[in-house]
Amino acid sequence: MAEPAASPYSTESVAFRSALDVIRGVEPRVADAITQELADQREMLKLIASENYASPAVLLAMGNWFSDKYAEGTVGRRFYAGCRNVDTVEALAAEHARGVFGAAHAYAQPHSGIDANLVAFWAVLSQRVESPALAKAGVRQVNDLSEEDWARLRADFGNQRMLGMSLDAGGHLTHGFRPNISGKMFEQRSYGTDPATGLLDYDALRATAREFRPMILVAGYSAYPRLVNFRIMREIADEVGATLMVDMAHFAGLVAGKVLTGDFDPVPHANIVTTTTHKSLRGPRGGLVLCDEELAEHVDRGCPMVLGGPLPHVMAAKAVALAEAARPEFGGYAQAIVDNSRALAEGLLKRGTRLVTGGTDNHLVLIDVSGYGLTGRQAEAALLESGIVTNRNAIPQDPNGAWYTSGIRIGTPALTTRGLGPAEMDEIAGLIDTVLSGTTAAPAPKGGLSKAHHVLDAAVADQVAQRAADLLAGFPLYPGIDLS
Ligand SMILES: *Cc1c(COP(=O)(O)O)cnc(C)c1O
Repeated sequence: MAEPAASPYSTESVAFRSALDVIRGVEPRVADAITQELADQREMLKLIASENYASPAVLLAMGNWFSDKYAEGTVGRRFYAGCRNVDTVEALAAEHARGVFGAAHAYAQPHSGIDANLVAFWAVLSQRVESPALAKAGVRQVNDLSEEDWARLRADFGNQRMLGMSLDAGGHLTHGFRPNISGKMFEQRSYGTDPATGLLDYDALRATAREFRPMILVAGYSAYPRLVNFRIMREIADEVGATLMVDMAHFAGLVAGKVLTGDFDPVPHANIVTTTTHKSLRGPRGGLVLCDEELAEHVDRGCPMVLGGPLPHVMAAKAVALAEAARPEFGGYAQAIVDNSRALAEGLLKRGTRLVTGGTDNHLVLIDVSGYGLTGRQAEAALLESGIVTNRNAIPQDPNGAWYTSGIRIGTPALTTRGLGPAEMDEIAGLIDTVLSGTTAAPAPKGGLSKAHHVLDAAVADQVAQRAADLLAGFPLYPGIDLS
């Protein structure tokens, strides 16, 4: 990813070392923690599907005085004076986002993926509930509504429906589930996958949509290893009068890199698209909303509707990351993510590992660890002991629920950034299989087997961890940065 100059005198080394010296002068323990975090990340075999490594340019764009600035409003229309440089970076972030994704409009202010979704939900409510109510009352803004009309509008906000992918099929909490605010705002129903194939069941989804008639149909996922056909999604949305919202938080990098095109590119099909910028897109932690012309003015009300002041330093980093994503090399990176994911899946399948849907078409693989007689929690802990960082995840119809689970989700964006390729993925599949085969559920205190605890021979764990470390040593993380 970065320049190969692994010298303490390289530009990158000097930049980060100097920054750490400045921090050390105030609170040395923070400087030490930052230094240690780099060392830890360099040692981790990171298969967390939602994580990545942002470039030094992205990281440095965040660490500066842009952080000091309040800039509520939109580019050129701020509630604070002195925003011309914030305007520059926010306009650049939006311009690059429109270019990379081919979107009519982009809004770069959301602080995170959940915030991007809140902006999107309220943009749709603004367009489809608030605007008609204002027009009917013959007023321009909510402050001009009578108490009675306002009370009715508030009730109407709370009476809308959302249809989203179920959690155990790979959907996200922010798609209308009760523990999240989205589930408290909307009456929600879920669609899922075909129990026989594990694939999205569009016919069942269409039937549910016809019956339920949601205002918002949400597509997108955190743990579905296959492609989603957004053309069909839009057809279904149009048929029932729903707005199609796609949350591409996980796979935005594959869209930016033109690996997902045609029916599988959400941008031409959806009315509104949300994403994080820090997952496969490899930018700073943050969110982004893309939309058609009709929704643009509603999306731009995100701040102050649901967001506080924007984070100008993060918008600067988004502009840098999106400029990186616009380069031809990023297409190669995105393709390599998928090639690696396929190699990982094939490596597991040939060793007899059960995968949800039997494989992958994107950046992630969902292992059904019940084949090893383990819960996801046990598998996650055993892998961690062996130097492999993953996360447990529910699988469709999971008998162990959302806490213990029966799945392990693994993804390739981070290791692909480090430069690992299909041969390494095959070897990693072997390491995973070695650990899971060597792990057993611990006996439960009251008899039977524990769902939480496991037994793994320390020699096996050490051997795998050593091999993982050797493998990573060939692919240095941040090769241009030497803090010694
Ligand atoms: C990660 C994720 C989010 C939330 O992103 P945050 O930046 O953590 O708020 C939202 N939706 C989906 C589908 C995600 O995968």
